Amino acid sequence: MLQIKNLRKTYKIGKHQVIALDNVSFDLPNGKLVAIVGPSGCGKTTMMNLIGALDGDFEGDVVVNGKSLKEAGGKDLDTYRKNTVGFIFQQFNLLNSQTSLQNVELALDLSGISKQEKTKKAKSLLEGVGLSDQMKKKVNKLSGGQRQRVAIARALANDPEIILADEPTGALDVKTGEQVMELLKEISKEKLVLMVTHAPELAETYADLIVKMEDGKLISIEENISTVSTAVSKIDKIETKSKMSFLAALKMSMRNAWLKKGRTIATALGTSIGICGISLAIAITSGTTHTVTNQINGIFPANAITVSLKENAGKPLRDVKPLKYSDISETMSLNKNLYDYIFAIGGKGIPVDTFYSLDQSIIKDEKLVTKMSEQATREKLIMMMAPGILEDVKNDLQYGTLPKKDSTNEVVISLSTAKNLEKNGGELKDLIGKDIYVRYFKQGANPDNDQSGIPEVPIVKTWKIAGIANTTTLIPTYYISGDWLINFYQKEFKIDKTTLEGNALVVYSKNTKDLEEELQKLNDSQSKYKLELAAKTISSQVEGAMNQIRYALMGFAGVSIVVAALMISIVVYISVLERINEIGILRAVGARKRDILNIFVAESFIIGVLSAGIGLIFTLGISKLINSAVYSFLQNISSNAPYMEVAKLPLSDAGMILLFCVVLSMISGFYPALKASRMDPIDALRRR
Ligand code: ADP
Ligand code: MG
Repeated sequence: MLQIKNLRKTYKIGKHQVIALDNVSFDLPNGKLVAIVGPSGCGKTTMMNLIGALDGDFEGDVVVNGKSLKEAGGKDLDTYRKNTVGFIFQQFNLLNSQTSLQNVELALDLSGISKQEKTKKAKSLLEGVGLSDQMKKKVNKLSGGQRQRVAIARALANDPEIILADEPTGALDVKTGEQVMELLKEISKEKLVLMVTHAPELAETYADLIVKMEDGKLISIEENISTVSTAVSKIDKIETKSKMSFLAALKMSMRNAWLKKGRTIATALGTSIGICGISLAIAITSGTTHTVTNQINGIFPANAITVSLKENAGKPLRDVKPLKYSDISETMSLNKNLYDYIFAIGGKGIPVDTFYSLDQSIIKDEKLVTKMSEQATREKLIMMMAPGILEDVKNDLQYGTLPKKDSTNEVVISLSTAKNLEKNGGELKDLIGKDIYVRYFKQGANPDNDQSGIPEVPIVKTWKIAGIANTTTLIPTYYISGDWLINFYQKEFKIDKTTLEGNALVVYSKNTKDLEEELQKLNDSQSKYKLELAAKTISSQVEGAMNQIRYALMGFAGVSIVVAALMISIVVYISVLERINEIGILRAVGARKRDILNIFVAESFIIGVLSAGIGLIFTLGISKLINSAVYSFLQNISSNAPYMEVAKLPLSDAGMILLFCVVLSMISGFYPALKASRMDPIDALRRR
């Protein structure tokens, strides 16, 4: 039972008021075909839209089976549109680029039933309107009559009680119009079919009741005795739930994203630049931190302790007091576990070392044939002699042994030095036991630029190669000296070791367990030294510096993220404008505001996932490029430089970035999505 009570509707156009419906009241029983007739502009469409709850702005009331539309809330109206009324429009309002089946399924999408069930029902509905052989055809390939049948099948999808058809034959020729009327007549055996028509002869042939209107007023309601009767065909009743799932919304948006793939990908690419920037900032800083920390840990084993003067704490570098040679023994006496040290000597007058190749003839000519311009090679040679480090080198030994404890003429050389010495082929292991000749000369003299032969007063010392170690530590040797080397300097170069000054002292402890606690105690005592785990101090300094770099880089990338967010917002907004008709159709078949919101949020979700995906893949590629570039650069310096992952995005950070990107783009898309969902169904349908 449909009751229209004092229904009044006015439109405002500028200052003018148009009265479209003027106090209309009438009742209609179920199971009839009712035709509404009257001249153009008399308010027929307006009334249909009010009965269908497409327009909520009116006076009076529409009461369906005792329920008032005036009193109903937004959610009730959505349910009403979905379950109680079915719309058929003059201009069909179908999605032209989709198939008949998809159009009918659309109405069922909102019901949250399974895919198979949905397809089965849509098929049986299309069979019911005589379109079994047109299901897979796109709507824009169908004739007008066929389109209207699809629209009828869609209107029936959720088994409504009332079918509202606004001039359903208006766009059809006479013959197909009659076929559509037959169908509506059939449907009216079970439902109330309310139809607006321009053609009085159609009303007279098919309608049970004829409602006449003029100028927004009801003129008459008459029974039509001459109506034809048709056979009743049964259409299956469908049980539906009331929700469209987010998944259904996602699928719908996916279809749209695919339709507009150029734009979707362009947007995702744009956004991915910012994402890539942030990821790279994290990848590079975290990879570098990791690599550098590893290197530091390689140089400074767990038992290495840096020593500094407490009085230097917080002072700028130029005011820092250097450590003296006497500080070494004073520090060593602090704790019985301290057994060895490295002293970094930065003062003048310390000899710099370099070496000749093994070739005897070269030594005889006293000419520098193999120019050891490779800093790394030169540096690594004597590095090995520092006793504290020897322990660490033990694990890296490839050939030979460590120097004997009291030996004064044995060395371990690095693998890259060994390869340099055996440049002309020959087994590396044959180098063990051979002599190499190392020249020492005053700091400041440059052997590499010397063309004539011997630079000023070189002292040549012969060393025997005890072992070859695969190590990559890169620290100038003349700069760092152990006790052993200092004694060597004193003897060979007549240096007074008590005058040596250094800017770093690293001591080694026998104890590695509870070392930190032990150091804490020492630091709390009255001594003038501050002792810290070397690896930890330096690593944390590196980490601190890297974090600063990271945030600076992320700040830059952040700007492009803001731009990207705006872009997503605009793209979703454009999409809303493009799909405004679809929004209207969806609302007309009962989509909730929430469903429309979901559809567009789902669209931004897709853009977000794509952006993050593209950004992360780029990051992976660029990281690989950076790593190989660094590798080949290091290979030029030293042939045994390892492959280091200086750019590496940790998996957990990648996950965070993905999440961030998806959330960001969903937030960006939210506003336009909200606008779309708030649109009145009738406004959306009217705009084309
Ligand atoms: P019918 O469907 O009988 O041809 P309508 O219900 O479409 O008539 O229109 C009734 C009156 O309301 C007409 O005068 C029309 O100009 C006016 N009208 C309809 N829709 C609007 C609108 N959206 N804005 C302003 N006036 C409108
Ligand atoms: Mg009309």
